Amino acid sequence: MIEFQKVTKLYNSNKGPALADIDLRIDNGEFVFLTGSSGAGKTTLFRLIFREEFPTSGRLYFWKKDTARYKPREVLEHRRRIGMVFQDFRLLSEKTVFENVAFALEVLGRSPREIRKQVPAALDQVGLSGKEKAFPGELSGGEQQRVGVARAIVKNPLLILADEPTGNLDPDTAWRLMELFEQINRKGTTVLVATHALSMVSRMKKRIITLEDGLLVRHKKQGEYAHEF
Ligand code: ADP
Repeated sequence: MIEFQKVTKLYNSNKGPALADIDLRIDNGEFVFLTGSSGAGKTTLFRLIFREEFPTSGRLYFWKKDTARYKPREVLEHRRRIGMVFQDFRLLSEKTVFENVAFALEVLGRSPREIRKQVPAALDQVGLSGKEKAFPGELSGGEQQRVGVARAIVKNPLLILADEPTGNLDPDTAWRLMELFEQINRKGTTVLVATHALSMVSRMKKRIITLEDGLLVRHKKQGEYAHEF
């Protein structure tokens, strides 16, 4: 689904590359953790996949298409296929739960009829049925993040990119969120989660990619990390 071929990313600064010579393949249906300390390049990797940034050199393919060669219409289509989840939730505080999730479909020009059908289905999947009329400020952190996940899945994406999604959650809530991602993944959506939460990563027994100073240093199959902790 995603293939990095010798991708290097340099920002306009006099630091070294944010990502250097990355070769990486993520297949359709995988659940992958991306670990690495702050500044290692995790967010840059996500930005490249979302096509907010371009490789300085190398190529990045999405479904065998070179993302640098998309036509404008293909860029929109690409982003429609990716659901993003953020550490700080990024909900609209003046909109209700329903409206926050509906907004993701409104910007794609979906019909009110489709919105009335899809939004409750997404909220049901994340366990928030009955909270449609609440505002984000009335919800717990875990519930707010579930709204964030509902907003990501409501457009039926092929890929979920979650950047430190449990960073603001307590351990129990974080664990339940990971189980939700696992459930979404079992339905066929590819999931890529960047996180510092190594104990959780080791419990989940998924594939792990580790970045260090822009380099891919570890690249393990499911569960191998468990032996190191
Ligand atoms: P992480 O998400 O793992 O913390 P980032 O991808 O944010 O890492 O950062 C990787 C490196 O790239 C860091 O050295 C960071 O300072 C640098 N960097 C990130 N974004 C920019 C930017 N927009 N301009 C310049 N340098 C950046």
